[in-house]
Amino acid sequence: MDRFSHYDWPFFDRPHAALSREVETWALANLGHAHGNDADAICRKVVKDLGKDGWLKYAVAAEPDVRTIALIREILAYHAGLADFAFVMQGLGSGPIVLAGTEAQKKAWLPRVAAGEAIAAFALSEPDAGSDVAAITSTAKRAGDAWRVDGVKTWISNGGIADFYVVFAKAEEGISAFIVEAKDVDASERIDIIAPHPMATVKLRGAKAELVGEAGQGFKLAMRNLDVFRTTVAGAALGFARRALTEALGRAKDRKMFGARLADLQMTQAKLADMATGIEAAALLTYRSAWVRDVKKQRVTREAAMAKMQATETAQAVIDAAVQILGGLGVKSGHPVERLYREVRALRIYEGATEVQKVIIARELLR
Ligand SMILES: Cc1cc2nc3c(=O)[nH]c(=O)nc-3n(C[C@H](O)[C@H](O)[C@H](O)COP(=O)(O)OP(=O)(O)OC[C@H]3O[C@@H](n4cnc5c(N)ncnc54)[C@H](O)[C@@H]3O)c2cc1C
Repeated sequence: MDRFSHYDWPFFDRPHAALSREVETWALANLGHAHGNDADAICRKVVKDLGKDGWLKYAVAAEPDVRTIALIREILAYHAGLADFAFVMQGLGSGPIVLAGTEAQKKAWLPRVAAGEAIAAFALSEPDAGSDVAAITSTAKRAGDAWRVDGVKTWISNGGIADFYVVFAKAEEGISAFIVEAKDVDASERIDIIAPHPMATVKLRGAKAELVGEAGQGFKLAMRNLDVFRTTVAGAALGFARRALTEALGRAKDRKMFGARLADLQMTQAKLADMATGIEAAALLTYRSAWVRDVKKQRVTREAAMAKMQATETAQAVIDAAVQILGGLGVKSGHPVERLYREVRALRIYEGATEVQKVIIARELLR
């Protein structure tokens, strides 16, 4: 199955097809080093390389093209999960500045983020506020012309290696977004998860902060940011799933058993058929969502929730089937499929767990 055949779908323009080939060439040449346990070092290098070669500008564009971000994520994730992660965090972390920052804030951060010279982070979740984001308890107070933020943020991607954090905290007016520089937070409590990922709990004690957008508009801003990036999580899931299918097809064709190839056995064929169909269905939802936002210029609350849920759940099932087809090799440390099995898991939890996506879809249906 040609991984690039879907770029002639009507959801895409010609530049998307051309770009996807360029990203593939770049990924093949540059991501050999992007696996391993030193996630901090890998991400720092990938961010620099992605910036130097011009890819990050798509993640921090003034008018983000969701199809472009999703397809870049799909291809990077196919080759290296950390590369996808490093790419998208530059966008997710600086998104509130793109959407609502002052000209001075944009000038101070966005060119550096796009060049890979500054690493961004998005700090919304707290120990007692994950799925229930509105329950955050971090506070922000005016101190003369500046603001001060107190609180604890956790599960913060790029925590410990970021140069700045966009932090959400409650001001008198309601939840608001702030830029806080790395030097003003304590990100020393690092978190290890199932697959290498730079992450920390971030403590703010009277941290100097700059308001982004209007006070009280932070929740809306976070949701508008997620409206861009949620669909692209589905893109990353597609990349993981397609890689698992490639690995499974390769092994099924090579592996001999019972006087035939593993691929000749109908139970294997059924698995492969389910995997490929699941991927195509998820891809249709993903790029439909991206197209609605890019071309029809509409909010994609329902479409993005469907795409994110379907693609991440499908990717998990596809990767599990790939592990099964590979047998012992599928659980051998360092094998691409074993790596995918660990890398995909968090996608069903972050940027809204599957249950949260179901709540969103049902709410839209029952409106
Ligand atoms: C790898 C990774 C990276 C992350 N990066 C960031 C980041 O950069 N910035 C940031 O702010 N946060 C980040 N997060 C945090 C992430 O957004 C939260 O983990 C997520 O929102 C879930 O919150 P929680 O972990 O507190 O789980 P909880 O809120 O405790 O939820 C636990 C489970 O409850 C279930 N659930 C939720 N809602 C419902 C419902 N309505 N009905 C039934 N069941 C439900 C779901 O299965 C959910 O997984 C990251 C998390 C991970 C794992």
